[in-house]
Amino acid sequence: MTHHILIVGGGIGGTMTANHLVNKLYPEIRAKKVKITMISNSPWHYYKPAFMYVAFNSFFRDELRKPQRSLLRPEIDFHVEEVTQFDFAANHVLCRSGKKIGYDHLIVSTGCLPAPEKIEGLKEAGDHFYQHAPARQLADKLASIEKGRIFITVTFPKTHNVPHQCGIAPIETTLMLDDLLRKRGVRDQIEIVYTYPTVAQLLRNCLFLQKDTCEVLPTIFEQRGIKHQRGFTLDRVDPSRNIAYSVEGQEENFDILMATPPIHAVEAVRNAGISQAADNEGWLPTDHESMKVLGLENVYVLGDTVDLPVSKAGGSCHSQSPVVVNNVASEIRHGRICDAYDGKVVAIAQMGLEDGMPLWYDYKVDVKPTPPNKLGGLMRKGFNRGVYWAVARGLV
Ligand SMILES: Cc1cc2nc3c(=O)[nH]c(=O)nc-3n(C[C@H](O)[C@H](O)[C@H](O)COP(=O)(O)OP(=O)(O)OC[C@H]3O[C@@H](n4cnc5c(N)ncnc54)[C@H](O)[C@@H]3O)c2cc1C
Repeated sequence: MTHHILIVGGGIGGTMTANHLVNKLYPEIRAKKVKITMISNSPWHYYKPAFMYVAFNSFFRDELRKPQRSLLRPEIDFHVEEVTQFDFAANHVLCRSGKKIGYDHLIVSTGCLPAPEKIEGLKEAGDHFYQHAPARQLADKLASIEKGRIFITVTFPKTHNVPHQCGIAPIETTLMLDDLLRKRGVRDQIEIVYTYPTVAQLLRNCLFLQKDTCEVLPTIFEQRGIKHQRGFTLDRVDPSRNIAYSVEGQEENFDILMATPPIHAVEAVRNAGISQAADNEGWLPTDHESMKVLGLENVYVLGDTVDLPVSKAGGSCHSQSPVVVNNVASEIRHGRICDAYDGKVVAIAQMGLEDGMPLWYDYKVDVKPTPPNKLGGLMRKGFNRGVYWAVARGLV
């Protein structure tokens, strides 16, 4: 019998998993006992964190994407197809093209999407850096603003204990913004206000989603003259007056509203009928250790589509992917799983335009912030420009 492993989604989670599976199951693949197929709805692979740099004019489109096929081991059968329906009971997916693709083992890594339309007025009046086109629009505004007020908001998913995409991104971009405006010589004429909602994953009334980092942030912001405000949960925006309203009853004017918008899973996952997430966000119920979708013995999920309490980050995929690979390989070879995810997330935060700070945490231990420095900045640059692609290829 040939085991067919189907991976849906050619982002960082799916790509590194597919390549690692080839390494791990090479003898079975050579003997045609295992076949690996990947389908993704784009022929391109985007290094998504670089959208943040696009907003600061330091990355252009062709520097942040590569053809997906070029990142995959030749043993992987790759097709550009969009899944429109998951039929878990029948072990197949349906594609927009009309194709039906069956599997023995399914791995879902379809990421998440910004959904600014979930907040009244945000799509019209707000800006964000979580996709290429909105980041380009923000870049034009940041490159030309001479005076005024840049107001920063963060929105969390409504699902209990699930964070927004890349937890540290709002802080990274606030510090990058301060540096950019100083470089442009306009910082004295522009007020930057960083805000955080009343409920941030599990914490309340703070400036970040983990306690130790919350405690150092006021000093970091005050040294740079960045105003900060707790308890601002974005409720709606009036595009005609450029005013952001909070659930808590505040009204704040802005010249640029730099938002972390609501997010949700992709449509096919939201419609799959097994999510327990609030507000139709669609996160798949994920076993914290095995990375299987709860209740489905042959379906795994990783990356931004999970409902785990860890950052929706490439730095999470990097630790989840080996667990998925080990468990699928062990099921094929030994009929049982053998590995468990401990919640580890490892990344290097971009703290301003030049400095970086390595960070790591897991289910039990929060990030311990360390002083950002130039060496961290160099490591982040190396990751942005090269190491990321080696990670995707399964080499790191
Ligand atoms: C601005 C920004 C900054 C970030 N900064 C960092 C950072 O500093 N560090 C960090 O670790 N992470 C960061 N992240 C998060 C990181 O990029 C994501 O967590 C990571 O890309 C998630 O990987 P994934 O495989 O789950 O999804 P993705 O990488 O989003 O891949 C999803 C894939 O699925 C495909 N797909 C979607 N729907 C379908 C469908 N129906 N059928 C077939 N294919 C489909 C897509 O084309 C895509 O290829 C950042 C993200 C953003 C946007």
